[in-house]
Amino acid sequence: MLEVEEALAIVLDRTRPRTPVETALTPRALGRVLAESVTSELDSPPFAKSVMDGYAVRSADATSSVALTVIEEVAAGKTPTKTIGPGQATRVMTGAPIPFGADAVIPHEQTELTENTVQLRRPVAAGEFVIPRGREMAAGEVVLNKGTVLTPAVLGLLSAVGRTTVIAQPVPRLAVVPTGDELVEPPAAPGPGQIRNSNGPMLMAQATRAGAEARYMGIARDDRDALRNLLDDALAASDIVVLSGGVSAGKYDYVPDVLRELGVEAHFHKIRMKPGKPLFFGTRGETLVFGLPGNPLSSFVGFELFVRPALRKMSGYAIPGPVFVGLPLAAPLEASNDRPTYAPGRLEVSSEGQRVRGAAWFGSADLRGLAGADALIRLPAGSVKYASGYIVSTLPVN
Ligand code: AMP
Ligand code: MG
Repeated sequence: MLEVEEALAIVLDRTRPRTPVETALTPRALGRVLAESVTSELDSPPFAKSVMDGYAVRSADATSSVALTVIEEVAAGKTPTKTIGPGQATRVMTGAPIPFGADAVIPHEQTELTENTVQLRRPVAAGEFVIPRGREMAAGEVVLNKGTVLTPAVLGLLSAVGRTTVIAQPVPRLAVVPTGDELVEPPAAPGPGQIRNSNGPMLMAQATRAGAEARYMGIARDDRDALRNLLDDALAASDIVVLSGGVSAGKYDYVPDVLRELGVEAHFHKIRMKPGKPLFFGTRGETLVFGLPGNPLSSFVGFELFVRPALRKMSGYAIPGPVFVGLPLAAPLEASNDRPTYAPGRLEVSSEGQRVRGAAWFGSADLRGLAGADALIRLPAGSVKYASGYIVSTLPVN
């Protein structure tokens, strides 16, 4: 049986970033990945400017605490009209251009003004409180590389260089298809033998959080024709199709068969992990298909371990994850599992830093246990008995 790492490698090997598209730079572009490098078309700052309210002076005049004649006042957004000569100074506000002749600024608080004469309380060195032209970036310089993630600061920088659109990776389209004859949609009350469909909303939310444009296809019944029709639609209009249920070896688990009929090539169908062993992965062209087992924890873990990394790689991220971190246990942890296990955990912050505590869960149907968790703890196969403080491999998920 495949190990989790081998299965992830197969998934990522089949995942291609999509064709980049022109993207408007609104807050909705947050988290998208640049598919071009961006060059500045101007020097920034565009002129040498003061970073203080004070007086622009010639440092050559100000080797001691001299008195200088104030010849002009320049606010931010205004331009100096006079060149500073020997014995002269100009009052400048924060952000104002430095007048010709001056090479330094002395802050207002370190001076004394009488009429139009300013007394400096100290000598001033060349360059003090002045940002030279082009210090941040020069015209023609590459300021953002291809592969940069659009963060608030990056969106700000793109505006500073005059961009309103960029070429970026598109948002992957992901279809969610819960399957099962026993499912009813909330708010309907489950009849005998029925349960509410909780995986549909959970997977839609996981997909949205992972940066996908998620489309809900509705429940597919355990019937070959119904399943085929729904999946045909889902495959035609999606980069990723995520099914829940119907992938085990049960009598009505038609998903793998129907996918094969629709031209989906199967790459694996079982992983040595708990929860979520019967996880199906296939492709049709560049579309990825994940069949997650129906138990809520199995669906959740399968999504975080395989679907989310595929989504991120498709979105252009250099590191698709999942990124596990080593955290000390907040309490002892004992477990016995026949397969490597991803158990719900809770992150805690104390004065000693972050720790993780194993959450109570009774198995892969325990959605309530999962709802109280915000991490998955990776445990090896076999029996383990860890003391408090033992470092465990942890995947934060919320
Ligand atoms: P399956 O993988 O179809 O054999 O389903 C495994 C278990 O998960 C069964 O107990 C199902 O009733 C349950 N299950 C399947 N789909 C869902 C769903 N969408 N929401 C909640 N539970 C589900
Ligand atoms: Mg089922």
